[in-house]
Amino acid sequence: MKQSLEIFNRLVDELLADEAKSPVAEYVPTPDLYTRLDLKLQKEGISAVELEHALKDLVFTTPRTGTNAFFNQLFGGRQDKAILGDLLAVILNNSMATYKAAGPQTGVEKTVLREICNMIGWDENSDGTLAPGGSMTNFMGMLMARDAFNETTRYKGVHQKMTVYTSMESHYSTPKNAAFAGIGRDNVRKIATDTKGRMDMAALRAAIEADIAEGLHPILINCTAGTTVLAAFDNLEEASAIAKEFDLWLHVDGAYCGSVLFSNQYKHLIKGVENVDSFTVNAHKMLGTPLSCSLIVVKDKKHLHTSFSNDASYLYQTDHDEFNLGKTSIQCGRRNDALKLWVLWKSVGTNGIAQIVEKEFELADTGRNYVRNHPDYTDYSIDDTVAVCFNYKGIPATEICTLLYQHSKLLVGYGSFREDQFIRLVTINATNENEDILQFFKTLESFVAENENLFSKTA
Ligand SMILES: *Cc1c(COP(=O)(O)O)cnc(C)c1O
Repeated sequence: MKQSLEIFNRLVDELLADEAKSPVAEYVPTPDLYTRLDLKLQKEGISAVELEHALKDLVFTTPRTGTNAFFNQLFGGRQDKAILGDLLAVILNNSMATYKAAGPQTGVEKTVLREICNMIGWDENSDGTLAPGGSMTNFMGMLMARDAFNETTRYKGVHQKMTVYTSMESHYSTPKNAAFAGIGRDNVRKIATDTKGRMDMAALRAAIEADIAEGLHPILINCTAGTTVLAAFDNLEEASAIAKEFDLWLHVDGAYCGSVLFSNQYKHLIKGVENVDSFTVNAHKMLGTPLSCSLIVVKDKKHLHTSFSNDASYLYQTDHDEFNLGKTSIQCGRRNDALKLWVLWKSVGTNGIAQIVEKEFELADTGRNYVRNHPDYTDYSIDDTVAVCFNYKGIPATEICTLLYQHSKLLVGYGSFREDQFIRLVTINATNENEDILQFFKTLESFVAENENLFSKTA
């Protein structure tokens, strides 16, 4: 064990030193992958020295998601206290299914979930769990909606034509999950959005009414707090009025930006969240914990038991079962994803977490201001969020993003809204400073200036 930890420490030291000089890893094209790197498994083992050598090569060519040049996905950076927590989770290697196997770690998970429920404004009747990612916690929300609509479904299977409502800008896990849940992708209604990417509530109501008139069974409205491209927030107050009127489950997919809950300055973006039925948030996005740390909380915990416990109903549970977290999870063996968030939270406090969130909004303001004040840029962003959407000199976003990647300059992605396609700079790494955002634009500009011949056209 000691030797492996020494290798680990050396590799990390070397990586961090190299990242400071080269924030983007060497680009390895897929045709070269198996020749550039020794990934082969062989019959005989190798020495520790050879192993360390192979590992170093692998570590050094792996995309660097922790640096100030990674803006590609909805995560990035390193919150070191969260990393400490996750490393401990690996060493301890508990399964969160039972108190017997997880002991005090059960209390860690329950404390994190309780605090989040409290912040929403829910009472002791609320609870939650963790699953490996927002797609899975959203799936749990959908299953609870399905079973709340008809409790016999979990025994008899889906035998009614159920429908689900989500915006055109929502995450693709909703149609996937509808397929898994037996509801069917074709029964997901993609509701139009307004010019700022928020679900159009009049269109939502009309779609529900049309389905009811057809004899279908609407079960769930899925709102998004932070849509994938624009990072827009659906209006939860209006959605919950509609959910109440038609007696539907209201789930909030806050995988991306649900962490605004922590900030007094920005929690107005999810105003009315206390009236929803379930709420998903990924700490591995805005809060910067390692992947994955996805939580779902539910206003009435009986639904967790109805949908996920295999035997006795909620009513028969003993006190002790409150600490057997496997009763309400989708997995059997389950890694301890709560610990990384708990260690970060314990270390910086709720105020420190709020500062992480607020820093990301500040970085986005810096980015948007830059784009809006420089005539070579076209701005597609909305205000009050953590994504900066733009094009530069009319160059297709796909071209810029791909070339920056292939030349190991920056990792950034593109997205589209309605007929526009643009670069999407996500300011979700709170360890960045405003200068890092300005440096992003400088790197992009000098790359374009030095490589004009690579682009199909520049203005
Ligand atoms: C990232 C994201 C998801 C999926 O979460 P994973 O942890 O990647 O599975 C779902 N919804 C939204 C809005 C997201 O941004």
